[in-house]
Formats: sequence, C-alpha cells, structure tokens
Amino acid sequence: MQILESYLAGRWIRGTGEGQALLNPATEAPLAAASSEGLDLAAALEYARNTGGPALRALSFAERGALLQCMADALQEARDELLALNMQNGGNTRSDAKFDVDGAIATLLAYAELGAALGAGKFLVDGEGIQLGRSPRFHGQHLSVPRHGVAVHINAFNFPAWGLAEKAAAALLAGMPVLSKPATATAMAAHRAMQVIAEAKILPEGALQMLVGSPRDLPALLGAQDVLAFTGSGATGERIRALPNVIRHSVRVNVEADSLNAAVLGPDVEARSDMYELFVKDVVRDITQKAGQKCTAIRRILVPRGLLGAVREDLVEMLGATKVGDPMNEETRMGPLASEAQLKDVLSGMERLASEGERLAGNPTRISEKGYFVSPGLFEIDDGKAVHEHEVFGPVASLLPYIDNPAAIVARGNGGLVCSLYSEDSAFIEQAVAGLAPWHGRIYLGHPKIELSPGPGTVLPQLVHGGPGRAGGGEELGGRRALSFYLQRVALEGSRPVLQSLAKEGTA
Ligand code: NAP
Repeated sequence: MQILESYLAGRWIRGTGEGQALLNPATEAPLAAASSEGLDLAAALEYARNTGGPALRALSFAERGALLQCMADALQEARDELLALNMQNGGNTRSDAKFDVDGAIATLLAYAELGAALGAGKFLVDGEGIQLGRSPRFHGQHLSVPRHGVAVHINAFNFPAWGLAEKAAAALLAGMPVLSKPATATAMAAHRAMQVIAEAKILPEGALQMLVGSPRDLPALLGAQDVLAFTGSGATGERIRALPNVIRHSVRVNVEADSLNAAVLGPDVEARSDMYELFVKDVVRDITQKAGQKCTAIRRILVPRGLLGAVREDLVEMLGATKVGDPMNEETRMGPLASEAQLKDVLSGMERLASEGERLAGNPTRISEKGYFVSPGLFEIDDGKAVHEHEVFGPVASLLPYIDNPAAIVARGNGGLVCSLYSEDSAFIEQAVAGLAPWHGRIYLGHPKIELSPGPGTVLPQLVHGGPGRAGGGEELGGRRALSFYLQRVALEGSRPVLQSLAKEGTA
C-alpha cells in the first residue's frame, strides 16, 4: 500500500505509526495511508518563514505570476493522473474530477494573469497619497506589504486539487510562503499535485510545503505574522478561532465553513419556460454533482406556492433518473459519498429533514452493501428549523414554498456562500437582492440567455468566495481582493518626496 509522505523543509518525509487509511469510497478498498506523527511541524513553519518568505518577497508580482503559470502547466501535464486519483480516492465521476482539477488549473492561470497585470511592483500602493496638513509636504500614503510569516492552508475533503491551488495562488502571488494541509481522507490528488510541482522545481525552496495526515497542533504553532486559511466544518473553524495563541497573537484567520445555499424561483416565472428549465437544471446539477459534497451546492429550493406542484414533479423525475454507481462506470452520473463518516452524517441529516416534512425522493439507507452510496434526496418542508440550520453535506435538498418575501426565509440560514435567483421581474430582483446581499458572499442571477453558464455552484477566481455568519465570515479569491489577506496595510506619514520614493517599488 502506498504511504503518502509530507513535503516539509525541502524533502519528502513520512510520519511514524500506521496512520490513517485512505480508501476507494466506491469499493472500500484501501489505497494508501498517511501519518503526520513525529514530523517536526515547528521546523517546517520556520523553514517557510526564513527560506520561502524572503525568496518570494524578492520577486515582483509579475515574477510570482510566472511561477503560478508554471504550476498550472505542470498540473495540466499531470491532469489525467490527477483525474484518476480523484475518481479512485474521492468517489468522483470523471466530470466531478474535472471540476476539481480543471478548477485548480484555471484558478492558477487567473492569478498568473493578475500577476502579469500587477507588473514589476513587489507590494501594493493602496490608494492615492493624501495631503495631511496645510503644507503639501506633510503627506500620507497607505501601502500593503507581504506579511513575514507563513500561510497555513487547511482544506476540506471535497476539493483536493482546487483547495490546494486556489489558496496557494493568492498567497504566493502576494509574496507569502505556504504550508498546505489537505483533508486526509481524499488527499491523494493533492499529494500528487504537490509531487508534480516539487519535481518540476518551479518554486523557490520553502515557498510551498505540504503536510499529509492529521494536522496535530499545527494551528497552535502560529504567531503574529502568520495567517491561517481554513475550509471545513463550522465546528472545527470555531475550535481554531478559540485557540489561545490565535487570540493572543491576533493570528489572521479566514474561515470558509458550512452554508445552506438557496435557489429562489421568482413569482413571474412560468412553468416550463426557459427560465424555469434553467432553474430546474441548476438545482438537479447542484444536488448530484460531486454527490452534493460542494460547499456551494443548493440546499434550499424556494418556489412560489403556485409552482410547487410542477417543480416537485420535475425534480422527483430527474433525481429518480440519476444513475448512481461506481464512478469507473461511464454511465454513472453520481458517485458515492467520500467516506464512511460522510455516509453516517448524510443519513442522519436526512432523518432530521424527514422529521420536518415529507420525503419526496431518496432512500433512507445506504443503497449497497459496499461503498458509501446514497440516492439523491429531496424533502418538502413547509416550515422547519433543521432545514435552515443543519447542512446535510450530500446529495440532498429541500423544497420550501413561499408566498412573498423569499429573502426573509433565506436569511434564516444565518449567512451563506451563494444564493441564486431566477426571475425577469426587475422590481422583484431589486427587492430580493437588497434583502439577500447582506447575508451572502455571492448572488447568482440566472438567465437562460447566458451561454455556457456554470451555474451557482461554481466558484470563479475573479469573484469573491466566502460568506457571512454560518458560512464562516471569510473571503477568498475575488482577483486582487484575494491578496489582502496575506498583506499588511500600513499607513506612512511624513515628507511627501520621501514617501513617494518609498512607494516607487510598489504597484498602484
Ligand atoms: P472538517 O472535519 O472540519 O475538516 C476540514 C479540515 O480540517 C481537514 O483538513 C481536517 O483534517 C482539518 N481538521 C480537523 N480537525 C482539525 C483541528 N482541530 N485543527 C485544525 N484542522 C483540523 O470538515 P470536513 O467534514 O472535512 O468538511 C466538510 C465541511 O466543509 C462541510 O461542512 C462544508 O460545508 C465545508 N466546506 C466549506 C467550503 C467553503 O469554501 N466554505 C468548501 C468545502 C467544504 P483531517 O482531514 O486530517 O481530519
């Protein structure tokens, strides 16, 4: 069995003990094992701070962007291998696997392009200079400079390659070295991506490291110049935020957590119109893609009461026709859940939803003896609590009828990553957006005339990813905005010519 090693302080190294087994979730066959026991995490963090950081900060944005381009090229060459690993270790269909791997490559390319556009500067000049007193000599200027610590990235199990790439792209471009930790259960694609990047010798020593296996006390080792970007459950996010060192040293923490994303069908939409068909297609894709294990997947489907019958009928039919099975089989449209723990969580989550309404689709138990398979689940809930509070991280959603003001119902989710809206009534759109915007990181306005729209579930590198409240309160991506997490904003005040000379090395 393959033992996954970590890449720390410039070399591949394996932890002690048996470690955690990584399985094929379709067959439950063990594929690999990973352990981080005995690895010197403090030394790896020091290596990043003292070796990777200075080397990255010596480069311009354009030079860092060129490194991202090389990373994208290396992953592109290894694409088939990475897809196969996601299919084996993640339960992904080939199309699901592409979503992760191609998403990783596209995000690196987007930030490579941003680096080229930011040019020869090594830090950002933030806004115009300001005259501070009567004399034009007394001047103020904000700069945003790379922090001198390490960026620790802890990722969830559902996007091993994308999680690695999207976080690393922003940090490396900003000039901070990275220690990335994929979720252990599905780490094989992330581990192979790290191997590919390390073998190609693209990055300066210490710029990118990877810890495979349990995080142990990694977050507790961070200090005042370090940052931690975490994606995973709200409960783990809370634990990290409450660590004494995080509080004492004001360690900057970004949390991307749970989200009960909603899709809202407008009252103006007629059954079987193009807008209606787009809505139904987006909902079904979000329930079944990656077996619903997408942080942005639609969990709550809000429809005007008058359209409930049509939507119910169409969704039940389409979900019932979804072919669930081993992703190695070409006919399969939805693979298994990623792990036994996921299977348990999803089955018990469905029980909670069933207690609040009617089960319209989905088997209440696993659907095969081997493998973590479930059938897509749909519930109809008039009013409930769990439906707004408990994220079932699988192929499960609930249909909720509304009479008016759907935004108020959506807000009961207490903060989400994305809400999608399907309407052509501008007064309704305006009112709904005003109600939804404070509760979301992104609002997707579906329209049948937009060609090749990826739907609300796809996170794009140009747009902010994150959301308030339950969603973690974080912000990732968003083009140039993504860099701010890794940069320290400093206000300089003094003589205008001195400040102008200091700002010369930066990019406006
Ligand atoms: P999780 O149990 O919180 O694990 C997430 C990551 O945290 C894994 O790498 C895990 O490592 C690590 N971890 C576990 N305990 C830790 C601790 N005490 N300190 C530091 N790291 C720790 O979450 P999950 O169940 O794998 O992920 C599913 C959740 O992630 C869902 O709720 C989903 O909504 C959320 N998610 C959010 C986004 C987003 O962008 N907002 C994206 C994807 C997923 P091990 O694997 O080694 O245990």
